[in-house]
Parts: sequence; structure tokens; C-alpha cells
Amino acid sequence: MLYKRSSQLFADAEKVIPGGVNSPVRAFKAVGGTPIFVKSAKGAYLYDEDGNKLIDYINSWGPMVLGHAYEPVVEAVIERAKLGTSFGMPTELETQIAALAIKMVPNIDKIRFVNSGTEACMSAIRLARGYTKRDKIIKFAGCYHGHSDSFLIQAGSGAITFGSPNSPGVTAGTAKDTLLARYNDLDNVVELITANPNEIAAIIVEPVAGNMGCIPPKEGFLEGLRQLCTDNGILLIFDEVMTGFRLAAGGVQELVGVTSDIVCFGKVIGGGLPVGAFAARAEIMNYLAPLGPVYQAGTLSGNPLAMAAGLAMLQALDADRDVFNRLKDKTAYLAAGIDRVLRNNNVVFTINTIGSMISVHFDENAVVDFQTAAKGDNETFKKFFHGLLQEGIYIAPSAYETWFITDALTYEDLDFTIQAIDKVSKTF
Ligand SMILES: *Cc1c(COP(=O)(O)O)cnc(C)c1O
Repeated sequence: MLYKRSSQLFADAEKVIPGGVNSPVRAFKAVGGTPIFVKSAKGAYLYDEDGNKLIDYINSWGPMVLGHAYEPVVEAVIERAKLGTSFGMPTELETQIAALAIKMVPNIDKIRFVNSGTEACMSAIRLARGYTKRDKIIKFAGCYHGHSDSFLIQAGSGAITFGSPNSPGVTAGTAKDTLLARYNDLDNVVELITANPNEIAAIIVEPVAGNMGCIPPKEGFLEGLRQLCTDNGILLIFDEVMTGFRLAAGGVQELVGVTSDIVCFGKVIGGGLPVGAFAARAEIMNYLAPLGPVYQAGTLSGNPLAMAAGLAMLQALDADRDVFNRLKDKTAYLAAGIDRVLRNNNVVFTINTIGSMISVHFDENAVVDFQTAAKGDNETFKKFFHGLLQEGIYIAPSAYETWFITDALTYEDLDFTIQAIDKVSKTF
């Protein structure tokens, strides 16, 4: 397949946009070559500016769980747009999507909508700090919680790929309040809590990590965090920006039966429009302005187009809960197929999967945290990525990313993908 026009468009973009992209993970820095420019997408497929049709395993990095240009979402946006696109005043839509989210997710009484996952996580820790009157937070190496200053400390995917885990521009003062722990390592968390008595406001975690490949929590890890938080007056924040409304209607809280104090959403909750949200029990949420002292705001927060898209998406998922089983079955089928062909071709690899998330690591060891994820062979990944692109399959242009399975993928698409992986891995 040729990607000629994309290369030209990228050269034009580079002149006026830093690196030619509006988010670094879109660049092909880790794999070489130039980004693909999309013209349109429908269901499981992308159509690019060169006229290629690609099977999409990124799906806008998660939101398009039912596939691209999902009819009810598109219709909702079109109809809503005719009524005006922003008011800076309340609309009934906001209450409708809030009520539905609260019905679907366990353990939340109130929810506030923002414009991105970054804003959701940033606001969640401000709220946790205000509520507990403590300053420090614990985050895990390789977990990504958006690009706000407090979180750009070993932050996974984009930050790893670009070798700037501690970004310039983040002050030493901010960095000192973020304590770093190893994912899936409770002892490490206990050490940090013991060394900082009564100082830790929150532990924030991706309850299934998705930004260093897909790394499910070890048995007892989330339960252990829950107990440590309860025992030490610390709020547990589940960052479900990636997993919320994807791994189950109620996210990881429902899937593993562990509850957090604050939960962050993004991606699926916006149905492909810019939406984030954070939610908790009333006692915590009432700390927010205008009821409480913790300030948080947004001109476009709860934007009617975004809320219409998100509501249509959540309604579709709520009405068809079997979707989560279908997604899981498709993912398991793909994982088994990839496992079979890579084994036959004597490739060294590890596959991690949970629900509709899957990652392939070119290393023989179990991938359980940032350190083990970093061991993967990037040269093999580059061949894998470009080989698949030539076959018309688009995976994320970085070895640290999860692939997202959508309901729009057919078993024929999965078979085609497995055959392509067979072909490509013979050339390693
Ligand atoms: C994508 C992501 C974010 C950031 O969301 P944006 O909408 O990109 O700001 C935060 N946390 C997790 C777990 C994510 O996957």
C-alpha cells in the first residue's frame, strides 16, 4: 500500500504544527515513517487520504467501542447541532447523561463533566487534596493520567516513547508531591505510606493499566490498595478514562468488585467527542464549587454536542450489555490466533489481554509493570508495525500501547489480521 499523499500532508502540517501533530502519540517517532492522514472512518475501518482501507485497532485510542461513525451517535450530534452548539447555561441533557452514568457505574452519587481525561484526573486530585487537606499523591510508574503537571512523572506511552518521563516545565515543587510506586507491588505502596504519615491525599491508579501495553492488576492488588487507603485516610482514585464503559458497563469497579472513592472517565463516555468526567459519593463531590471550597470550572464543560454524543453512546451500551461479552470473545479469539501464528514462527512474545484490551510484547517474560514492559524488543515491534500497515492493518505506532477491540470488528476481520500477522512475523 502507498502512503504518498499522507507523507505530503504531513510535510505541510510540520510547517505549521509542532511535529505536525496535535498530540505526540500520533507521530511515528517510535517506529519511523510518517503518520497516516485519515479522510473518513466507518465501523471497523479507516479510509485514508491515499485511498487505502485499514482495519483500525486504535479506535481513537479507545472511545469508538462500537465502531466509527456509529449511527445513533452521529444522528444525536447532527440533531443537537441544529439547536445551537454552546450556551454556557445548563441543559437537560447534562442531567440525563449524569443520571445514566450514575445508574451504570457502582458506588457514585454525583458526577461532573469536563472536556478531557486530563481535566478529569487533574480535577480529581485537586478534589482529593481539598477533601483530605493533604498535599501528596501516589501514582504508579507507567500509568498515564493525562498531561497535567502532577502526573508527568514516569507517565507511560507518549512520555516513554519520547524519553521525557519528567517533562521540562514541570517544577521541582510540583514533582515533590507526586510519589512514584511500582504497579502491582503493594509492598512498595506500604513503604511510601509509612515514610509519609498523614501526608498522602490520594492514590491514583489505572485499575487495569493500558498505557504501558495492557497490564491487568495482579490478584489482590486493587483489594490491597482499597484496604491501605481505608486504613490510612487516603482516597483511592480509579482512573477509568480508558476502562470505563469498555471493560464492563460499570468499568473495573464492577469487573473486579473493588470500589474506589473517586473515579475518572473520558474516551468512551464522550462517544468520540471531547468529554471527561469525575464522580464520587455525594459527601466528596459536594466539596466542589459552587457547593464547596474546591474550585473547578469550564466554559465548554457539559457542551450539548458532547453530551448528546456521550448520552447516545451510554444508552447503546446500557441497552445491550451483551456487547461486553462479544468484545471479550472477539479479543480472546484474536489473542489465541496471534499466539498460534507467533508460536509457529518461533517469535519470542507475551500477549496480555483483558476484556476488549490486548497488547503484544516482544519479550518472553511476563509483563506486569513498567520495568517489564520496557524490556520488549522495539526493533521487532517496528517491523511488526510497518509490516501490518502494508497489509492494511493499523495498530498504535508505539510498543507501549494497548489495542482496542470494537464491536464493529467481524470474525473475518480478525482472521484477516491473524493471517497478516502470520505473514509479517515470518519476516522477523
Ligand atoms: C487517555 C487517558 C487519559 C487522558 O485523557 P485525555 O482525554 O487524552 O486527556 C487519562 N487517563 C488514562 C488512563 C487514559 O488512558
